[in-house]
Amino acid sequence: MSWSLFFVPAHRLAQERGRLGEVAAQLVNVAAEPAQLLTVEQVLATLVSAGCHGDAWYRLEGLEDPLPRCPDRWRCDAEHGRDIGEVSLHCGRDLAEPVRRDDLVECVSMRKPRSGSLPAAIALAAMGSAQIAFDTIDGEPFVVMPGQRDEDLAATWPW
Ligand SMILES: [Zn+2]
Repeated sequence: MSWSLFFVPAHRLAQERGRLGEVAAQLVNVAAEPAQLLTVEQVLATLVSAGCHGDAWYRLEGLEDPLPRCPDRWRCDAEHGRDIGEVSLHCGRDLAEPVRRDDLVECVSMRKPRSGSLPAAIALAAMGSAQIAFDTIDGEPFVVMPGQRDEDLAATWPW
């Protein structure tokens, strides 16, 4: 089955209606975090620094893509490589539009991510904004706070 995982900074998701927005709004009140979105360049550098790789489903304009592709899918699965699947960067425009270095990223989505999703979430949260992760299957949100580590989350991470 095809499915996708979404990471949205809590302060951004808090602007949305519905249950996920409410979850995010409660969290943002508690955390009182700065409402700064990361740029395309920052998001990609963060994913790379977390050792993640994946397939770009975004098109970059004026920027070399630093995100490596999967070197070997079979081996990657066997060794739980930090694969994040097919990656899209949502910058408030049609996803078919190219994205630029300084565009602000509202959401990172990953279609069929593998073992890279948790390190990716931890690394993005470590940039300063709590991340709310949810999927296209049941939409149950999972919150990753800045400073949380793999050992804090690995046992409960649903993906
Ligand atoms: Zn891989």
